[in-house]
Amino acid sequence: MERLQKILAGAGVASRRKCEELILNGQVQVNGETVTTLGTKADPAVDVITVNGKPIGAEKKIYIMLNKPKGVITSASDPQGRKIVTDYLKGISERLYPVGRLDYDTEGLLLLTNDGDFAHLLTHPKHHVPKTYLATVKGVPHGTELDKLKQGIMLEDGMTSPAEVEYYDVDPEGKQAVISITIHEGRNRQVRRMFEAIQHPVTKLKRISFGDLYLDNLKRGIYRHLSKEEVEGLF
Ligand code: URA
Repeated sequence: MERLQKILAGAGVASRRKCEELILNGQVQVNGETVTTLGTKADPAVDVITVNGKPIGAEKKIYIMLNKPKGVITSASDPQGRKIVTDYLKGISERLYPVGRLDYDTEGLLLLTNDGDFAHLLTHPKHHVPKTYLATVKGVPHGTELDKLKQGIMLEDGMTSPAEVEYYDVDPEGKQAVISITIHEGRNRQVRRMFEAIQHPVTKLKRISFGDLYLDNLKRGIYRHLSKEEVEGLF
């Protein structure tokens, strides 16, 4: 027996929190009876579980890495009609959710899945999945400025935790530099705000790794499925 919200999230219905809302809203039935109590347990092998009357399937779990282009929203829909990441998932009929977000102007590695538990676990702040970005910044930051980012810097929403920061490419004329930065948190626009704090604003941002996964030579706007080993390696 398992908690209903866990079964629903595991079947790819939605994230665990969304599934709790479905239960509380009276949209979930077990053997024809509407269940609105969150602690309710069920056995997916025996009980017939439905959402709005539709049986939940043992939906195939899908895990995808997309090289998100810039100018695309990390969202399943956009009221303003801008391009969204799911526009790039041609050939996939399952409903996929992004694991965390990349800004509209950020490109690079974005994971998508229909596995609600997986997405929730990896984006939970206590998970600290390392994420590496190549940040092109205005001017060439001094080593002491990068040290501040390494140690932690004060932002509006508090100190950042220690980051790994290295020069990746430096323009000999001093106009710009590409800095590799690995953070273990995922606050809103964090990398951009960190560089703003040292007066070297980001002009281009690309995520090149997430945990043990690397973007490698996946072309912009193209996705690939993760292998079983890659998925397991993220936990
Ligand atoms: N940090 C940012 O500033 N933007 C992103 O998209 C990701 C991390």
